[in-house]
Amino acid sequence: MKIHVLTLFPEIPRAFFENSIMAKAVERGLIDCTLINIRDFAFDRHKSCDDSTYGGGAGMLMLPEPLSAALEAAGVVPKKTDADAAPGIPRRKKRVVFPTPSGKPFSQRYAYELSREEELVFVCGRYEGIDQRIIDLYVDDEISIGDYVASSGELAAAVIIDAVYRLIPGVISSESLEEESFSDGLLEYPQYTRPEIFRGVKVPEVLLSGHHEKIRQWRLRKRVEKTLRVRPDLVEESLKNGVYREETVALIEEMKNGFN
Ligand code: SAM
Repeated sequence: MKIHVLTLFPEIPRAFFENSIMAKAVERGLIDCTLINIRDFAFDRHKSCDDSTYGGGAGMLMLPEPLSAALEAAGVVPKKTDADAAPGIPRRKKRVVFPTPSGKPFSQRYAYELSREEELVFVCGRYEGIDQRIIDLYVDDEISIGDYVASSGELAAAVIIDAVYRLIPGVISSESLEEESFSDGLLEYPQYTRPEIFRGVKVPEVLLSGHHEKIRQWRLRKRVEKTLRVRPDLVEESLKNGVYREETVALIEEMKNGFN
């Protein structure tokens, strides 16, 4: 997968890319990552990239011209041109993501969807965000990483990229992904490492038993217990969509009755 990040502060995503397992994935040729400094595409001698908003209001907005020039340098064509392309001209393969609090909520399912793309382009907002015409002309996905307002799109883009690239086949073992939180509508089970006793607290006996079936059942029970307690909304949604196996549904029923 090719990832382009358009930013006014390349040092922020660079620090992340160079200090994670992402660096290894880049080394192994699984991912190719380019940072594009939007300021390189500013058109005036002050290298301006923001201005006040039409209609008034507090704060500045990122200017459309440097952004569109940076997007086009990343090989993104405006959607209209794409839609109008003559038959035979390949449709664009790049998916343009703008992280914004007013976007669709990000999720593990969304991360899987993005991990199947050939090329992703991230536009990092600053200040009050970006001119709407950039969104209308170039952006495919407006994505929110949560119901709060952070000050930079760089961190939001890094969160999305971090969740996406590890799902690309070969980056980490598929076994590691199998029982992770959200993989099947459940949160993860508790995990322990050495020592066997820490500050008087012992690792649950079943995990030391070597009995694989009992360990599996214990882990499933813990996952159901925690999901019901912390994310009842996820349980309801997964039940509605038929995500759970029979064994999981039976455990949910049993625990719900126990709670009542
Ligand atoms: N004026 C915007 C609003 O009210 O929605 C907030 C702008 S925020 C201060 C600056 C940038 O940070 C945004 O353009 C976006 O790129 C990023 N950002 C902040 N919070 C975010 C969130 N929850 N999800 C995704 N991106 C976010």
